[in-house]
Amino acid sequence: MAAPERYDALVLGSGQGGKLLAWDLARSGRHTAVVERQWIGGSCPNINCMPSKNEIWSANVAYVARHGAEFGTRTDRVAVDMVKVRQRKRDMVDRQVDAHLRAYKDSGTELIMGTGRFVAPKTLEVRLNGGGARVLYADKVFVNVGTHGTIPDVPGLEASGPLTSIEALEFDHVPLEFDHVPPHLVVLGGGYVGLEFSQAYRRFGSRVTIIEHGPRLLSQEDPDISSEVQRILSAEGIECLVGAQTLRVHGRSGKDVTVLARTAGGEQRIEGSDMLVAVGRTPNTSGIGLEQAGVELDARGYVRVNDRLETTAPDVWAIGECAGTPHFTRASVDDFRIIKDNLAGGNRSTRDRLIPYCVFTDPPLAHVGLSERDAHRQGAATRVAKLLMSDVLRVQAVDARPGLMKVLVSASDDRILGFTMIGPEAGEVMAVVQAAMLAELPYPKLRDAVLAHLTMAEGLGTLLSNVPPLAATAKSMRGELR
Ligand SMILES: Cc1cc2nc3c(=O)[nH]c(=O)nc-3n(C[C@H](O)[C@H](O)[C@H](O)COP(=O)(O)OP(=O)(O)OC[C@H]3O[C@@H](n4cnc5c(N)ncnc54)[C@H](O)[C@@H]3O)c2cc1C
Repeated sequence: MAAPERYDALVLGSGQGGKLLAWDLARSGRHTAVVERQWIGGSCPNINCMPSKNEIWSANVAYVARHGAEFGTRTDRVAVDMVKVRQRKRDMVDRQVDAHLRAYKDSGTELIMGTGRFVAPKTLEVRLNGGGARVLYADKVFVNVGTHGTIPDVPGLEASGPLTSIEALEFDHVPLEFDHVPPHLVVLGGGYVGLEFSQAYRRFGSRVTIIEHGPRLLSQEDPDISSEVQRILSAEGIECLVGAQTLRVHGRSGKDVTVLARTAGGEQRIEGSDMLVAVGRTPNTSGIGLEQAGVELDARGYVRVNDRLETTAPDVWAIGECAGTPHFTRASVDDFRIIKDNLAGGNRSTRDRLIPYCVFTDPPLAHVGLSERDAHRQGAATRVAKLLMSDVLRVQAVDARPGLMKVLVSASDDRILGFTMIGPEAGEVMAVVQAAMLAELPYPKLRDAVLAHLTMAEGLGTLLSNVPPLAATAKSMRGELR
């Protein structure tokens, strides 16, 4: 092995936290490189968050156009130009890639395009995309390699050439002509990714069937939330088969594909044209020589880290999804902030982070903090209040679709512990509640705030008015403790 080239810091995989850390270290004078095999800027701007939300927006425009007459705007036949939809997305991604290349240049970070693997502690061999190889050593190494879509072990599934979210965004499985979408898309998996794609394709014009093996969609949500989402999707004509075990797949995605599933009502054959698999994620940690570097994995294949994101090898950290961080961009970015602060002598940890998320169905689902299910598991006593979105005045003005707000407040004091909303602008309204939670604001302060009329957030006042009062016992207990 040739003598390795020496760096102060190396980042393997240009994930969301890793690239920010690299730019920061390089700007402070450290000799820094990022090794990335394909996506300049990582998954979020290239194949995950941004392109999916871009195309979901196009799908929503198609939906609004079709329903224009309900708002007093008549349109002729609405046709979706999938070539344009894809081009709009590609243009946005290109702009993102350019912005990332500028950031690499401006910060002085070297971007090495190739596939990296450890060959010794803190030493990477990179198979360069342009041919050849380099061996690199750094004083500090950060692993930010992300995850990929899992293809479950179902007979015939892999051979059917199913789409993952990456191909589903590129539409490269269908003859991409004006107004052509998959006639019948079968979606395996009723989680966040599966639902966002299901609704988007439905709105582009496909028939869509979701097959979910769990008893309900979005199984990590409270049952009332899952069933509200299912109701919304079903109302758009999306077929949802829950509690359905996929037994076998025949045929080829893109032509004819048949899924045999076992449901409560017996075996069913679902005959579709295309198949999308969205059943979960697998960390990109195998075959990258982590064992050569002393970096251990947990039982699920994620890099084993402590709450400072340090791996089992000295001076090697892991960031983002591959470290088991919740699968959201801002969580990976927060990993960067924790490591950065700790490198500067701080003592930050991943414990007790408040990580919100938003599912970009229409209307969206947003959640922060505890759900009822979590509270039950943790034995946390809570007070729960709900508000139907139809009782929020803004919904009546702009849109009469369903949805709800739900809040969990501590049973022993007035702290807000969790919030979920299905409704227009759910992510923005959630941010208001999140700010209150971070400030440990007693909920009556938010309940009694004058919030602008006619906003979605205005509904928070009504929601919080529905919180049951503190039980007399809890009040007296607090009194005794004072
Ligand atoms: C369809 C979809 C939509 C999503 N939408 C949202 C959303 O709206 N909001 C949200 O918060 N989250 C969303 N997510 C999740 C979000 O994209 C990720 O959590 C986020 O990108 C964090 O990723 P990361 O930092 O762990 O790594 P990534 O951004 O995934 O980066 C890992 C990088 O490592 C590279 N790599 C892997 N192995 C090697 C190797 N051996 N050598 C060199 N390079 C390598 C990969 O090519 C990749 O670029 C979505 C996910 C999907 C699948």
